[in-house]
Amino acid sequence: MLGSRKAFIFCSLVMLFISLCAEVFPIPAEAQKGDWKYIVIHHSATETGNAAIFDKAHRRRGMKNGLAYHFVIDNGTGKRRDGQIETGSRWKRQIEGGHVRQRWLNIQGIGICVVGNLNEKCMTEKQYWSLVWLTKHLMKKYNIPQDKVLFHGKIKGESTECPGKKFPYARFRKDININNKSNSNSKNPKKTKSSQNTRRTAK
Ligand SMILES: [Zn+2]
Repeated sequence: MLGSRKAFIFCSLVMLFISLCAEVFPIPAEAQKGDWKYIVIHHSATETGNAAIFDKAHRRRGMKNGLAYHFVIDNGTGKRRDGQIETGSRWKRQIEGGHVRQRWLNIQGIGICVVGNLNEKCMTEKQYWSLVWLTKHLMKKYNIPQDKVLFHGKIKGESTECPGKKFPYARFRKDININNKSNSNSKNPKKTKSSQNTRRTAK
């Protein structure tokens, strides 16, 4: 009898400890492990910007972890190179994003933002190939299948046109198909060079 009471007290203390930890460290274990299962593509819906600018904007909106995305792909504005891949602090810390409404997807989904208003204007070729390279790199690294590469506005429960009406959905799906050896990336050596440039910045 006494044994079961002790066990009950012990369990209660463990539960209390866990709940206190959850208060102090609100990041779920899944996010800490970097167990990424999805990739979510966004546009910034602004003509200009970079990771630092969006970081400030997101902090102003009350996000204490700043920049909601894990990666930003620049368009040559905001003193960044066209096609430059910026790594956000959430990625460096391997913590959940703040780029979608549903928390489970923020925990499991890597958020990539392409700078630009893709409702009005297409992304640049350099941005495109950086996005293809980064997406494929993350797909391979975390074993993420193509059907788990999502577009913000096409996710159930999200109401937005992100990543924009001019996002090249069909072309992108074809180019991230790891099994498709004849994708347009391999046909264009010039673009491969731009991918190599971004590879260095992605580290
Ligand atoms: Zn979005």
